[in-house]
Amino acid sequence: MNQDNKVIIFDTTLRDGEQAPGCSMTLGEKLKIAHALKELNVDVIEAGFAAASPGDFESVKAIASEIDGPTICTLARCNERDIEQASLALEPTSNKRIHVFVATSEIHLKHKLNMAKEEVLKAAFEGVKMAKSFCDDVEFSPEDASRTDHDFLTEVVNAAIDAGATTINIPDTVGYTIPYEFGELFQHLISNCKNSDKVIFSVHCHDDLGLSVANSLAALESGARQVECTINGIGERAGNTSLEEITMAIKTRKEYFDFQTSIDSTKLYPTSRLVSSITGMHVPRNKAIVGDNAFAHEAGIHQHGMLRHASTYEIMKPQDVGIARSNLVLGKHSGRHAFLDRVKELGFELDEGNLNPAFKEFKKLADRKKDIFDSDIEAIVLNTKTANMSTWELVDLETSSGSSWGAQASVKLKNINGTIKDTKESISSKNGPIESVFKAIENITGYNPKLINFEIHSVSMGDDAQGEVTVTVNYEGQDYRGHGISTDIIESGALAYLEVINRIDRNKNKNN
Ligand SMILES: [Zn+2]
Repeated sequence: MNQDNKVIIFDTTLRDGEQAPGCSMTLGEKLKIAHALKELNVDVIEAGFAAASPGDFESVKAIASEIDGPTICTLARCNERDIEQASLALEPTSNKRIHVFVATSEIHLKHKLNMAKEEVLKAAFEGVKMAKSFCDDVEFSPEDASRTDHDFLTEVVNAAIDAGATTINIPDTVGYTIPYEFGELFQHLISNCKNSDKVIFSVHCHDDLGLSVANSLAALESGARQVECTINGIGERAGNTSLEEITMAIKTRKEYFDFQTSIDSTKLYPTSRLVSSITGMHVPRNKAIVGDNAFAHEAGIHQHGMLRHASTYEIMKPQDVGIARSNLVLGKHSGRHAFLDRVKELGFELDEGNLNPAFKEFKKLADRKKDIFDSDIEAIVLNTKTANMSTWELVDLETSSGSSWGAQASVKLKNINGTIKDTKESISSKNGPIESVFKAIENITGYNPKLINFEIHSVSMGDDAQGEVTVTVNYEGQDYRGHGISTDIIESGALAYLEVINRIDRNKNKNN
């Protein structure tokens, strides 16, 4: 590989991605994603913001001790405490990076930091220098760079390089820039900063105007060699540059860019589904690369062309991004081996601890449903929870309803200590069975969140298809999402609502 054309893939799903509303994850969930990112072969994993909270610190530390291969990075402000926390959290690994940042735009200086330009310059220099005393690999970001005066930005970058930064990341923090303008900014910095040839320039974009991938590509064409991105483009507001889009743009248009990445693109789809299932953030059907419709050709005229030759309308093959198309159907008589083989072919890993519960779910589903499609198996793998992760589990559910009188439900739950609790009497509602089930769950668990959104979609085909319910609630000012699947949509709803309650419960215990 020509090293000059190697683009470093810096994944920030666990840091910037996790900052998105409703996307907060547990330690176990973060580790699961970190393992998947390693399989995907990203170069750098930004594991979190170690100084933000004890929970963040622990997860950066756990990822640093468990994951070997990619560089493990953590974010820090330019102050002593942040940088010390960062270095402590990264202690378990030798392959580490500290990423320090300070805001540089006039608007941030004035309204956020209340600092003069000289103070910012000093903070950048001192911050990088201090990080450098803990590790060789130091990245520096001038926050809100795209809205910073170019001369001042050049000065700050010079100070960071002088202090020993090895990567200079230029973020479009508010998603404001446009490709041509952003490309020019990189050219300006690379030709005006002293020793710019001694560092790697990096790009970090947000998608507020839908331009994050285009802006990142413009930066690469102007000399940047690292892209910061997230799986499914999750992140604050409209999100970050999507890892699957930027890497497939580079791969598909190789003759144009002549760049290379180390990403194993056949892991893109399973990783996308894993992140979507953990965060509860659905991938839109029409999302590039990993959306359900990305490779569907339904218009008759396209199908005709496709049958003759796939390349008439397809610029990438579904197999290239890890969508394993097959018409194989499993059923009641399929054994453990057949199940596990399909799981592997679909690009998922099941460790010993998860194999048994997943196979049990498969058998349960096979009793209810004749044909089990790939999408059903994917849903089983992604939704099987290791038992010890949840406070509450569904044991039994009964509902009855009528269009003239409403509905009633009784629910039986098991809590983490194994105690069974149920609604002493049926809980009724005028608004149908879902509401009465939710009320019954609230009655037992004592949580009473505000329902914001309820979505249902079918996982596969046929009358007996599984329904997947996604529930979004707000509890004490914070959003939570959860989903559940079953052939019975009321049960899907109950499972989704319980997941939400379990998340709230974990979060409460974490903060106590
Ligand atoms: Zn960001």
